[in-house]
Amino acid sequence: MSLANAPRPLGSVLIANRGEIACRVIRTARRLGLRSIAVYSDADANARHVREADEAVRLGPAPARESYLDIDAVIDAARRTGADAIHPGYGFLSENAEFVAACEHAGIAFVGPPASAIAAMGDKSAAKARMETAGVPLVPGYHGDDQDDDHLRAEAERIGYPVLLKASAGGGGKGMRVVESSGDFQAALDGCRRESKAAFGDDRMLIEKYLTRPRHVEVQVFCDSQGDGVYLFERDCSVQRRHQKVLEEAPAPGMTEPLRREMGEAAVRAAREIGYVGAGTVEFLLDADGRFYFMEMNTRLQVEHPVTEMITGEDLVEWQLAVAAGLPLPRAQDELAISGHAFEARLYAEDPAQDFLPATGTLERFGLDLTGAALDADRVRLDSGVDAGDAVSMHYDPMLAKLIVHGDDRDQALATLNRALAALDVVGVTTNRAFLQRLAGHPAFQRAELDTRFIEHHHDDLF
Ligand code: ADP
Repeated sequence: MSLANAPRPLGSVLIANRGEIACRVIRTARRLGLRSIAVYSDADANARHVREADEAVRLGPAPARESYLDIDAVIDAARRTGADAIHPGYGFLSENAEFVAACEHAGIAFVGPPASAIAAMGDKSAAKARMETAGVPLVPGYHGDDQDDDHLRAEAERIGYPVLLKASAGGGGKGMRVVESSGDFQAALDGCRRESKAAFGDDRMLIEKYLTRPRHVEVQVFCDSQGDGVYLFERDCSVQRRHQKVLEEAPAPGMTEPLRREMGEAAVRAAREIGYVGAGTVEFLLDADGRFYFMEMNTRLQVEHPVTEMITGEDLVEWQLAVAAGLPLPRAQDELAISGHAFEARLYAEDPAQDFLPATGTLERFGLDLTGAALDADRVRLDSGVDAGDAVSMHYDPMLAKLIVHGDDRDQALATLNRALAALDVVGVTTNRAFLQRLAGHPAFQRAELDTRFIEHHHDDLF
């Protein structure tokens, strides 16, 4: 694949991110012959992504607002280095429509969807209205404009308790509360509004039927600028702590082929409805009867994309760069197939014994001894943003690395995950490794008895 001769030629890419995702994007950029440009804050002057890129530009002081979230500083860095494209990674500016517009204005290709598609999915209520039009199934609920307390209460009664209050502008599990009965409604609404106002500057709410113990199953989609779209199957991300993913796998256990196709096609329909371009993820809740409901669409590359890469053999960052260069999708739907099974475990610098308080320090040792643990390098991948000797600060997300494994089937992949977790060599900073081991080694997890309250349900075994 030549990006230099594409409709929109790309010779260089600036990665507007840090940590493991910046390193991961640099790896593919290098393989494709692109010059890679890192950006950094003062806290990251010597970080791994800076060491690995072909060049690096300082953005500003440690606080993200003054560095990785500073749109002008990022655009300026891209201009000064002559970057043809900007890859935003995930988090930071990746779903910021204003940033996308600034890239377009500066004549730099944004590796992601158009601003209009981000805006369409950025608000949960508006997104649900669009999805309804596209015939994508929704959780029974209310996502209207009337935000009067009494009206919301009446809607909650109509939907039937328990219900889930969600901030329309929400994300990252914030501004979300389960309400068990009408007596709890007002207090929950007040609490959610406060939280949402503080976090997002917006206190509009939507209400959903609270599904008891659903699974979180999401579909990877990809669209090109010619209007073609495909799905790269699904991931099960049911194992969550406080609505945040901990362990992910692909494909989702127990999926039938008709359900897989139905969910995949609904996800592509959702993307098409908003004129999507690039990598996107459509998140669904799946109930025990095989009914699925649209939750939201993430308009970026997800943290957990490697499990999809492992089972399809595709490089999603390569796909993103190809699409940004104006090329058609590398493969058609009937050229994509699932091979084997993959897991991802997120390694965080945090202390499970102290309510998962982020941990800091210097990594005396950090790595994975593949040969010592008799692990196959083709089946095990450690996507990391750090090396031995690096300091872990409290400025950013505490995720250190992702451990990704592949097997011929789920059992084999899980056995490899357990061996690889044990072979991780991390000294100097407290991590959640032992917690991940208890999760991955749990008999109910082995039996794939998955739902979004797995951790809560097995609390006593896991802590
Ligand atoms: P956020 O954008 O804050 O991450 P989501 O809407 O994606 O919020 O929901 C996060 C998680 O909350 C889901 O993965 C699921 O575990 C749970 N959840 C969301 N909606 C419902 C629902 N209607 N019923 C039960 N659980 C839900």
